[in-house]
Amino acid sequence: MKAVQITQFGGPEVMQYKDVPTPTPGKGEALVQIQASGVNYTDIYSRAGVNPGPLPRTLGVEGAGVVMAIGSDVTGVKRGDVVAYCSVGGSYAEQAVVPANRLIAMPKGMDAKIGAAAMLQGMTAHYLCHSTYRVQRGDKVLIHAGAGGVGLLLIQMVKALGGYVFSTVSTDAKAKLAQQAGADQVINYTTQDFAQEIKTATKGAGLQAVYDAVGKTTFDKSVACLAPRGYMVLYGQASGPVPPVDMRLLGNGSLFLTRPGLGHYTASRQELEQRAGDVLNWIQSGKLKLRVEHVFPLSKAAEAHKQLESRATTGKVILVPG
Ligand code: NDP
Repeated sequence: MKAVQITQFGGPEVMQYKDVPTPTPGKGEALVQIQASGVNYTDIYSRAGVNPGPLPRTLGVEGAGVVMAIGSDVTGVKRGDVVAYCSVGGSYAEQAVVPANRLIAMPKGMDAKIGAAAMLQGMTAHYLCHSTYRVQRGDKVLIHAGAGGVGLLLIQMVKALGGYVFSTVSTDAKAKLAQQAGADQVINYTTQDFAQEIKTATKGAGLQAVYDAVGKTTFDKSVACLAPRGYMVLYGQASGPVPPVDMRLLGNGSLFLTRPGLGHYTASRQELEQRAGDVLNWIQSGKLKLRVEHVFPLSKAAEAHKQLESRATTGKVILVPG
């Protein structure tokens, strides 16, 4: 089978599309014929060595497709089921072995591509605004990179909870997308001082939460946007890692700082099913709009990475076999 592997860390050029042996499912595992793989920013950290891990390695942590075979002691899924999953390595491939207890059955009639596009970013947006800091009606929050994969979903979920959304983006085209998703005020953080804009808009009162996965270039000003007892939710670092923080910073407003990860919010089967179920059902009912904006063949995964890390993408990027 074909897969996209790395044998060393580096830029997109280290990604090799090549023949590798088809894996065999062991105890508790299923072999999935991948119909679509999700591309996520975390794949860039993995490729670049920011997230260290074993080498050689097949990239990708999100996929959807059809169960081809199951190992021993598998309950809950069977051959022929259409499933989606995330947070398991090796999805940039034609087939992947996945622990059966991480697989989610797709709602009847839903295209597998939707599963590959929705699971990781959808459940991330879900835990951020329902669990890390649960948005209350009337809360004002800031969502950075609002036209990105997580960003567009998070804006919609915060609006559904009754929040008021400020969102930052880098271009006018991205601003339009963030607005369409429901953002109340969009700020171009490459030309405007977002902290000053928010201070003015809130008459100095500040925000209940900032959802920041841009990191290095936004962190300090994000903290400055918070109201007393506000939540600084740092969930990524697309612009680079945040330098060590002097904890006295939090004393300015009895602030909370957290660095959450999806794995800790989908650790149990029950929590995984609940979040994935919400996301997939909301998409099926039309309550949540998923924008699959970029589809690349698996053989062009390196190009997908180039575009994602150069800020050229909006919404979701997926790979399909070929
Ligand atoms: P996005 O589609 O949001 O792409 C990243 C966006 O970040 C870009 O489009 C760009 O938007 C913005 N950005 C700002 N500065 C830079 C920079 N210097 N280089 C590149 N991009 C920059 O990606 P994802 O939706 O996949 O992920 C968004 C973030 O969420 C990532 O940091 C990711 O690691 C994190 N994440 C964290 C999870 C967790 O559980 N902790 C789970 C999933 C994702 P613009 O041009 O508008 O600035």
